Amino acid sequence: MINCCKDLEEKIKKNFVLKNIKYREYSFGKFYKPFLSHVIQNCPWCGVKFKKDLRDEWFETISKEYNLVKDSSEFDYFIENKMYASEFNNDEWWIKRGL
Ligand SMILES: [Zn+2]
Repeated sequence: MINCCKDLEEKIKKNFVLKNIKYREYSFGKFYKPFLSHVIQNCPWCGVKFKKDLRDEWFETISKEYNLVKDSSEFDYFIENKMYASEFNNDEWWIKRGL
């Protein structure tokens, strides 16, 4: 996951912006309190539009591939105990699936 500009890279280093590789998602960190955990769609510094985040797809893919019903207690247990393949902890799963 390559960053669009040096400014964003700096903010990530300082934890102003959090980069969640597993969901391909950027959000504001604790220093922007009113926006805490607010997912950002565009880079606030250079304006580039980020690719769509994959949070929903992450849950969807796991439920399909492990044949689990989303939001069931079995599913929640599976997620909580990280019983999925290690590829789901990083960008490997979405790169592999061409998302
Ligand atoms: Zn940028």
